[in-house]
Amino acid sequence: MTSTNDIRRSFLDYFAGAGHRTVPSAPLVPYNDPTLMFVNAGMVPFKNIFTGLETPPAPTAASSQKCVRAGGKHNDLDNVGYTARHHTFFEMLGNFSFGDYFKEQAIVHAWTLLTREWGLDPQRLTATVYHTDDEAFALWGKIAGVPDHRIIRIPTKDNFWAMGDEGPCGPCSEIFYDHGDHIFGGPPGSPDEDGDRFVEIWNLVFMQFEQAAGEIVGELPRPSIDTGMGLERVAAVLQGVHDNYDTDTFRALITASESLTGVAAEGDSRASHRVIADHLRSSGFLLADGVLPSNEGRGYVLRRIMRRAMRHAHLLGARDPLMHRLVPALVTEMGQAYPELARAQPLIEETLEREETQFRRTLSNGLRLLDEATGAMGEGGELDGETAFKLYDTYGFPYDLTEDALRNRGIAVDRAGFDAAMARQKAAARAAWKGSGQAADGELWFDIAEREGATEFTGYAATEGEGRVV
Ligand code: ATP
Ligand code: MG
Ligand code: MG
Ligand code: MG
Repeated sequence: MTSTNDIRRSFLDYFAGAGHRTVPSAPLVPYNDPTLMFVNAGMVPFKNIFTGLETPPAPTAASSQKCVRAGGKHNDLDNVGYTARHHTFFEMLGNFSFGDYFKEQAIVHAWTLLTREWGLDPQRLTATVYHTDDEAFALWGKIAGVPDHRIIRIPTKDNFWAMGDEGPCGPCSEIFYDHGDHIFGGPPGSPDEDGDRFVEIWNLVFMQFEQAAGEIVGELPRPSIDTGMGLERVAAVLQGVHDNYDTDTFRALITASESLTGVAAEGDSRASHRVIADHLRSSGFLLADGVLPSNEGRGYVLRRIMRRAMRHAHLLGARDPLMHRLVPALVTEMGQAYPELARAQPLIEETLEREETQFRRTLSNGLRLLDEATGAMGEGGELDGETAFKLYDTYGFPYDLTEDALRNRGIAVDRAGFDAAMARQKAAARAAWKGSGQAADGELWFDIAEREGATEFTGYAATEGEGRVV
């Protein structure tokens, strides 16, 4: 079996052989874009090159980029554990042309790597194109011999990429692998496309137009290529399994969590083990890149991820902190490709253990409150916003953790009620500051706390539970 580590290497070797500069992964915290929570695609570190602000290191490049899609525009957090193909942390393999080759060569490379180098069955591959992109449609027929009926024209923005309202944009082509008719799902564009049978493995972006204020205003003088292929998805295909969580890397992590909890990854426990394995990766890599758990911004996304995993560990019956004990398995699997992970191992372990110890002080009481509030409810029920807020404020349950906890019982949470309770508490806290005669300083403190989060003040929130914003 080809290991995930070998597949990453093989991708980079193929493109190096075709003259691409191999570029190491950038850190998960974007250095060039304060509006972006985490790097969520391979092209992010190259943004300034595509817009012409920076000169490229070489005309063409390839990378395996660490990505996190949790919080922010791309948020796959709620899919994790429940689909075969979504992670919060994943690696995006990509080849890039900065005004060098364009559509034809990009398709040639993708097809050659998939079907010649890696030997995938062409019959199982389907390509989509943007509905007006006749050029790409014709190229798929010419280069790959894909019959017309398997090239699918998609009219939605799934097949049109734009950096924002300004700058480069263009049509894309997504390559799907058909895992077979024993799995539910239909081809892209069909009513059952959300199933897991046809899995998108590779996305080719043809940057060809210039946008201003959201409108196409012309053609780029030097069209460029940006591609992204999910390493875990292609590993599943190459390892002959349907599910990303059955690939070597995930098997190793899940086996470690099975052996530490003594619970097999079957039935109801399966999703818990998957969430733990996934969140272990995202937490570990975020910590290695300098993000620390806190109550705002990036740190709060990390805290949410960590605590979700910790609830699942609790569900599996773990009575002591578990997550930090899985870090060695993570470092064994991925530390060679990402030395920063191995270097940060002590920090990752300490931070996970501290967070889990802290969260465990309130976790069981919070879960008891949750049970009391929803015990009588059946599917279609809704937890009131007050209780969700109390769980957040007193027991340190991030809102989405409460949602996740009720999800498999089909119970929703009243978001508007939660927000209202939060607003009331903030107003009350403000009034209390005013009453204490410290209005001026109080205002300032709250402004700062709201903007920066109360990270520095967790000291006195700790007695009542974490997760407090004010
Ligand atoms: P999907 O439609 O399956 O959610 P996408 O179109 O959002 O994928 P892209 O933004 O095109 O994904 O990213 C490029 C590639 O990265 C995808 O083709 C896929 O292989 C991989 N990928 C995207 N999101 C994830 C994820 N959450 N976990 C694992 N791999 C992912
Ligand atoms: Mg997506
Ligand atoms: Mg897609
Ligand atoms: Mg895509």
